[in-house]
Amino acid sequence: MSRSKCTLLSGALVEQLLDSVDSVLFDCDGVIWRGDQAITGASEVINLLKEHGKKVFFVTNNSTKTRKMYADKMSSLGFNVTADEVFGTAYCCAVFLKTVCRLEGKVYLMGSNAMKQELEAVGVQQVGVGPDHVSGQPIDWANVPLDPEVKAVVVGFDEHFSYMKLNRAMQYLVQKDCLFVGTNRDTRLPLEGGKAVPGTGCLLQAVETAAQRQAQTVGKPNHFMFDCLAAQFGVERERCLMVGDRLDTDILLGSNCGLKTLLTLTGVSTVAEAEAHRDSGSAERQGMVPDYYVESIADLLPALQG
Ligand code: PLP
Ligand code: CA
Repeated sequence: MSRSKCTLLSGALVEQLLDSVDSVLFDCDGVIWRGDQAITGASEVINLLKEHGKKVFFVTNNSTKTRKMYADKMSSLGFNVTADEVFGTAYCCAVFLKTVCRLEGKVYLMGSNAMKQELEAVGVQQVGVGPDHVSGQPIDWANVPLDPEVKAVVVGFDEHFSYMKLNRAMQYLVQKDCLFVGTNRDTRLPLEGGKAVPGTGCLLQAVETAAQRQAQTVGKPNHFMFDCLAAQFGVERERCLMVGDRLDTDILLGSNCGLKTLLTLTGVSTVAEAEAHRDSGSAERQGMVPDYYVESIADLLPALQG
């Protein structure tokens, strides 16, 4: 690329960039909303992009919602979005197990009800969702009852994560033919006011440590979510823009897949971090340098309204 990377996107450059793409992929948290609050101007940007004939998609590592739940949340916030435009890790994990792994057998699922629903929707049976009760009796941990039909352990965001579940996952995973899949590796989920909570990556690392095995992951920065979307909508990667707030997931996904990349500063990563990657001299870190950055996706509005 002749021009320098990590350029502030403004003025005529916005229109130029939008003219050069047919599809725009948005990360969700930190880009179109923060928690339950929409980023100011985000719904106008999404709706106007569509009115200008762009395809718009949503690519999120959050495994706690089905596509339908995302579409409902987006509609309630004023976004003109349908469920088939949403690629979350709950849905993509189900597609991955079905189409890539060709899983025959059940899943031991450490995850949400939403993941259970997405697995069921593609015909994958699962066990394990919800609290795993420990009675008052002494437990023979190495001989807990296992389901002989389980052929995969899947780890997503699980608010009922426990020692019993960790142990059960390990007992399944000592069987060499048991598949091991994680939704994503985000270790921290930032909240308002500088607070944060542990992300799925923490749970996945605990299971990997116990099982002494590495999981395959479906979420960003792995290319699978893009493959999934490209297979369904036939997009041309050179004419796609990935918009995200994290360098190590969103921007790296975009780079891994040959997409144009835009960092927005309403979430986790900063321009200083992007510049540090750019100026590090490390070839490996260049994938985390966005082509462009904006303060907020609302900065795209003037070009769309003009
Ligand atoms: N995982 C969980 C459980 C989350 O709650 C979130 C954000 O809310 C994420 C991952 C990150 O989501 P995104 O990829 O949309 O930033
Ligand atoms: Ca994000």
